[in-house]
Order: sequence, then C-alpha cells, then structure tokens
Amino acid sequence: MDLFPSLLEEIEQIPTIDVHTHITFDSPAASDLAQIALYHFITSELEAAGIDIAKFDTLSPHKKLLEASSGFARIKNTTSCWCLEQILRDLFALPLPHESDIQEASKRVEESAGRADWTGEVLRKANVSRVLVCADWRKPVPSGDNLFALVLRVDSLVNEAHSARTLDQLSNITGQPVYEAGDLKKAVGELVANAKHQGAVALGAAFDPQTDFVPGDRTAAGSVLSLALLGQKITREDRRTIRSYVLDMVLQSCAEHGIPFQLMLGIRHIPNSEQAITGYEVGSIAMYADLFKRHNRVVFDVLVSHTVLAEELAVVARSCPNVVLSGAWWYLAFPNAIRKVLRQRVEMLPMTKCCGFFSDAQCVEWIYGRAKLFRRELSITLSQLVFEGYLSHQTALQLAQHYLLENPKRVYKL
Ligand SMILES: [Zn+2]
Repeated sequence: MDLFPSLLEEIEQIPTIDVHTHITFDSPAASDLAQIALYHFITSELEAAGIDIAKFDTLSPHKKLLEASSGFARIKNTTSCWCLEQILRDLFALPLPHESDIQEASKRVEESAGRADWTGEVLRKANVSRVLVCADWRKPVPSGDNLFALVLRVDSLVNEAHSARTLDQLSNITGQPVYEAGDLKKAVGELVANAKHQGAVALGAAFDPQTDFVPGDRTAAGSVLSLALLGQKITREDRRTIRSYVLDMVLQSCAEHGIPFQLMLGIRHIPNSEQAITGYEVGSIAMYADLFKRHNRVVFDVLVSHTVLAEELAVVARSCPNVVLSGAWWYLAFPNAIRKVLRQRVEMLPMTKCCGFFSDAQCVEWIYGRAKLFRRELSITLSQLVFEGYLSHQTALQLAQHYLLENPKRVYKL
C-alpha cells in the first residue's frame, strides 16, 4: 500500500464530473453554516444519536446549530462527519461547530457565500469541472451553463401516471391534451424534446423496490387512461400497466434524442415518513435487464444503494453494452461499501463502464467533501489492486482517468 499516497496525488490532479446533485442553479453555494453542517446525512446521524431534529423546521439557522452542537461529539466517528470536517477545515479553516463559536463560524461562511466567485473557487478546489443537477419535470426548467447541466427527473410522471392530476400537469406543460394513449405518447415526446432543447443532458428517476414494469401495451394503457380521466377506481395492476407504458414512451423519446437515462435503485421510502432505508425485491434485476435489452438504444446510468443490487447489476452490465454503473449512492457512500463496489466493477467490467463520482450534494461545499472521499477510496482500491499484481500503475491511472472524466463526458455528451 506504499503506492497510496503517490497514486492519490496523481488522482487528485484528474478533473472529475459530478453526475448527480441537487444543487440550486441560482444559489449553488450554502448561504449559511447550517446548510453545510446540517446536510441530511448529518441530521439523520444526529437524530440517531438522540438530537430532536423534528423541531429544526421552526428554528433559525443559528438556533438549529445551537441545538445540534451537542450532537457532533457523538457522530465524529462517522464518514459523513469526516466529510464535514474536511469541508469546514479546507474551505473555511473551521473546526466542527461548537456552542461557543457558532456565531463566528457562521459569519465566516456567510462572508464566503457573498463572494462572486465562491462557487467557482470551491469547484476548482474540488477539481470538479462540470456538475449535473436534478430538476423536477413539473417545475420551470432552469437553463444550464458551462458549470451546471440539467438532469430532468420524471419520477412522478412514471410513478403517478395513473393520476388525473399528473395527466393534467403533463398537458399543461406540453400544451398537448391527453385523452388517449396516442396523446400520452405525443405529450411525453414533447416533454423530452423540450428538455433537450433547454439543455437537459439526461432524464432520470428513482424507483422503489416494489415498483415493477412490464413491456408497455398501448391498448391496455389507453383503457387505464380512460378510467383515470373519469376518476374511476384504479387497481394495482392498472397502475403498473400505465406506468410501464409511460416509461417505455419516455425511453423511446430518450433513444430518439440520444439522451441517457439515470436510474436510481435500492432505496425504499418509509410510508408517511421522510425517512428512507435500503431495499430490493428478488427478481427485480432480471426485470430491469429486460428493460435494458428492450431499450438498447438508450444508455442507462445506474446509481445503486444496495450491495446485493450492486453485485447483480455488475453482472448485468457485463452483458449490456448500454448499461453504465456510477458511483455509490446513499447508504453505499461509505468507505467500506465504496471499496467493495469499486473493486467489483474494476475487476469485472471494462474501464469504460463506470462514472466514478457523484456527490448527491445540495450545495457545492458538499461536492468538495464527497469528491475528497471518492478520490481517496478510488486511490486506496487501485493501489491495493496494484499491490496484489492485478493492475499495473499505468493501467490504474488510465482507469482513474476514465472513471473520473472520460466516461461521464462520453455518457452525458458533455
Ligand atoms: Zn439524489
């Protein structure tokens, strides 16, 4: 492992593209310390450590930090907290928030946020050259620039395709009235064409494990559409019929416009709660393998948050040229899991099949923290493989260049 420091130094020089974030286009940097220190990875750990975060909603950023400050000592072992420490130290020369210095620390963050080139400076320090940003299909599409590019999320369009409200929203946004299956196809085509015209580089959606798909059937979807528009009862099977048809239409349009689809799998949302845990259904990857084959002109970039799915998808990616696997999502974004997933992919897949990094960040400061973690983990994994004799130093560097830069550039046509 003597190679690690030198490999890390070389890998830090390779720019990367962040293929999945939730940055706000017009305010990409955190406007206050709370936005950084209370990122949802941190608040869920604080909650687990006994801090009452439910009352945060009604508090000012300063009061939230005061409430949270006693919890930082209890989570300073976690990797999320390690990321937070890197962000605060490297970008602001600050330690973890402490009750006595929150005022001073907040002032420093706010001063930085006010600087015109702060976002650019953070991304330069992170060595991130481009950032993809998720935006919901129902909201006005923000226009990208040379730093940020749009991924249009169509989760609710697919998942709630049986609802008259969704169909109404689709009609309003596209100007295409939806009365029958042919209209639905036209409206979806219009939505994708508009997104492409407005600079979207991908479409995307996350599906819960219980969400299943079958090959779309236009006649059956038309019948469900009529029921939905008349406000009639929709069965579970009807829902599957219409969402399968809509997803097929979305993917057909992606193929037509040469747009990739970012698919997120492995998270189960707990009903009536903000919380999400990992989850998968046996057989779901066979179902997605069928989807990938049926839509073989679409490149699927799959983000996964469950080790079983990560393993099964590595097998699928070996046989589907149109499937790329990226980064490590949510509960896999911790060193132990990142190493496992990375090593599996390096061993099993051509070096052109993975985008190495995404942050899932809501402000650019967290892109910095996550980029630092991922570059470290990539360097550790590759130096171990070089040590074991499976990779040469040169191949390890070529692979890093592909994972960090060349693959996202090619997949998202940046
Ligand atoms: Zn996300």
